[in-house]
Amino acid sequence: MPELPDIVVYLEALEARLSGRTLDRVRIQSPFLLRSVDPPLCEAEGRTIREFRRVGKRLAFRAGEEVWLVLHLMIAGRLHWKKPGAALSGRNAIAAFDFDSGSLVLTEAGSQKRASLTLVRGDAGLQSLDPGGLEPLDTPPEAFAERLRAANHTLKRALTDPRICSGIGNAYSDEILHHAMLSPAALTRKLSDTEVRRLYESIQEVLRDWIARLRREAGGGFPEGVTAFREGMAVHGRHGEPCPRCGARIQRIRYASNETNYCAGCQTGGKLLADRALSRLLGRDWPRTLEELESYKEQRQGGA
Ligand SMILES: [Zn+2]
Repeated sequence: MPELPDIVVYLEALEARLSGRTLDRVRIQSPFLLRSVDPPLCEAEGRTIREFRRVGKRLAFRAGEEVWLVLHLMIAGRLHWKKPGAALSGRNAIAAFDFDSGSLVLTEAGSQKRASLTLVRGDAGLQSLDPGGLEPLDTPPEAFAERLRAANHTLKRALTDPRICSGIGNAYSDEILHHAMLSPAALTRKLSDTEVRRLYESIQEVLRDWIARLRREAGGGFPEGVTAFREGMAVHGRHGEPCPRCGARIQRIRYASNETNYCAGCQTGGKLLADRALSRLLGRDWPRTLEELESYKEQRQGGA
């Protein structure tokens, strides 16, 4: 699932191409995509694109004075910049946002269509889609520590819960915890002040470093090839490969359709976190599926 660094770079590419342009038309191919009825799409069409924002893992852009178009890419949604009026060909192309300068095409691979488009009115509408997690790059360390310890969660859960921390998912939480040399199963209220500080610093460093890398990779072009598994990641998606810090083999904990990767050498004092033992230990405090956490807000709103 595209996470904070991917979304930041997507938004920069959109801003460079769409800012001040008129959204001529929205073409929607998949009946599952649009999750709102009011404001209707026609209120966005014909308006100038004015502003761009990230809301958790969602991308938002404002058409005219108050209509926000909010895209949640979920796991397999991707954006592409095509020539004007590009055909929506193939099963994966689910929508196009047409401008005179080009078409922003949304694709989603796979049969499960989970990506969503929601239209809302004004700042209040936008806020209603925000699960409320702290903005990790704009939060001072004290406020972060307080929110982290407000409930006793595993670090994996705390970092990936959009109600606690905004924009971090399975991939970057693995990278951050490895950078901070902390176990994904460590409990937030058991951490020392030094460990909390180290976690805070690692969040800053890992996210900023990846934003810079992805910017370089895009090189002013539209960011294609967005993936959760990147060359250069230390642990995520590298089960069985050597840890770049200590050389030990990267381990995994599997749950539902996901897995967490960590280095026992660097993060758990050499201890392996066995899947079954871990689930006993943690009870329900493990992200069962990240989509479930992501859709929390939408469920609460009755799927509107
Ligand atoms: Zn290691």
